[in-house]
Amino acid sequence: GEKSVKGIFEETLRKYSLDNVVRVVETGCMGACDLGPMLVIYPEGVFYQKITPENASRIVEEHILKGRVVEDLLYRGDAGDLRERPQEELPFFTEQVRIATRNLGVIDPLSIDEYIARDGYFALHKVLFEIGIDDVIEILRKSELKGRGGAGFPTWMKWDFTKKAEGDTKYVICNADEGDPGAFMDRAVLEGDPHSIVEAMTIAARVVGAQKGFVYVRAEYPLAIERLTHAMKMAREYGFLGENILGTDFSFDLEIRIGAGAFVCGEETALINSIEGKRGIPRVKPPFPANKGLWQKPTLLNNVETFANIPPIINNGGEWFSQFGVEGSRGTKVFALAGNVKNTGLVEVPMGITLRKLIFEIGGGVPGGKKLKAIQTGGPSGGCIPLELIDTPITYDNMKKLGTIIGSGGMIVMDEDSCMVDVAKYFLEFTVEESCGQCTPCRDGTRRMLEILERITSGEGTMEDLQLLKDLGENIMATSLCGLGQTAPQPVISTMRYFWNEYEAHVKDGR
Ligand code: SF4
Repeated sequence: GEKSVKGIFEETLRKYSLDNVVRVVETGCMGACDLGPMLVIYPEGVFYQKITPENASRIVEEHILKGRVVEDLLYRGDAGDLRERPQEELPFFTEQVRIATRNLGVIDPLSIDEYIARDGYFALHKVLFEIGIDDVIEILRKSELKGRGGAGFPTWMKWDFTKKAEGDTKYVICNADEGDPGAFMDRAVLEGDPHSIVEAMTIAARVVGAQKGFVYVRAEYPLAIERLTHAMKMAREYGFLGENILGTDFSFDLEIRIGAGAFVCGEETALINSIEGKRGIPRVKPPFPANKGLWQKPTLLNNVETFANIPPIINNGGEWFSQFGVEGSRGTKVFALAGNVKNTGLVEVPMGITLRKLIFEIGGGVPGGKKLKAIQTGGPSGGCIPLELIDTPITYDNMKKLGTIIGSGGMIVMDEDSCMVDVAKYFLEFTVEESCGQCTPCRDGTRRMLEILERITSGEGTMEDLQLLKDLGENIMATSLCGLGQTAPQPVISTMRYFWNEYEAHVKDGR
């Protein structure tokens, strides 16, 4: 793992008494999973890929000691050419616009000074001393930022509702209960840039009038928890968090709550129940959390990626953010590329980019000379997009029209060998497992759908089953209480829409 690589670097540097001259800094995720572990040597900016414990010492002995670039470990570009300073030249990096992920792989997440050096806590300072609370809401309105956790609700409105809600006690919550299989942007931000969340939540608290905040993190993210805890401690020491922030009469503090990994706890009211110590099941809405949230008090809830965008938006202005993207879908979005794509990993791109550009230019296309078949977006709540539609710009509206969602940004690329019925079954198995059981359509309906799908994939299904599957899915979507049930049939419905012939090929009496 990366730890042992770091250990070898430090050990080798010590061996040559270079440990006072060269510092090894562990950063957050740089996004390019398939190249990792990666290493950039500064000030030259030479970029090495796929570092192992064996070649770690070689890099010290050759590059650092003798100033000779280790050719065979350099990043190898798509054309097979070796590049010494490729980070600025790689499509994987150049086509990205990194706002939420601006500090990932750039700063040491354990250093508050490095965060400050990259304009950290400037936005908080601005909100406390230079601009009014309503100015912040106006900036957010102009930015057109929408919630990046999946629902896509305008962020400024949530802030405004909570600000206007009556009550002296209010809360701010950060939803870091990232549950979509394949999505890990929230984790990457918390691990790579935890101060951005501390700063954004403190700003939010100032705006809505909250005194206390919670970050709800999955227990599966121990490193995120560790780094966030450290960031909170440092922020308190520097006066950015706690009593009388920066000498003002504004006080706000944060606590981490650890979730046990139930997917449904990502739903905001279930998450609130869970923080209150109750069973993590969704509540009926309305009332909305902005009015009656945590302990029935007005509560602002945003997810990690949404919060990570806040400080740069306040520093640079709403128009600056909305220059990226297109009508109705402004700014950038982080996607987690996975599946049959060359460059797997996290990418942050302007909204409105086409799927083709995302998959083929940034993602490097499908490996092994295979043909692209479909792209599944939005995880278990989303659907798939067939090859014919990959020139569609990624916007909230377009995805909806295609029968899927942007969701939290999971994107699974599937090549010609993938079976779409299997894909649908995989996601349905996930939701059956994760249904909280509170309401019948979701609890029993999804299970019935899975039974039918199993019948179909084992060759025992009939055309009648296909119709039943479709009707059942539509029924569950219309009658379930929360988002989990309302979207659970989506992977099935969507694959049926585009790949009906594949379903037919699986049944006994199909054509
Ligand atoms: Fe629970 Fe499913 Fe009903 Fe949501 S739709 S409340 S997850 S049973």
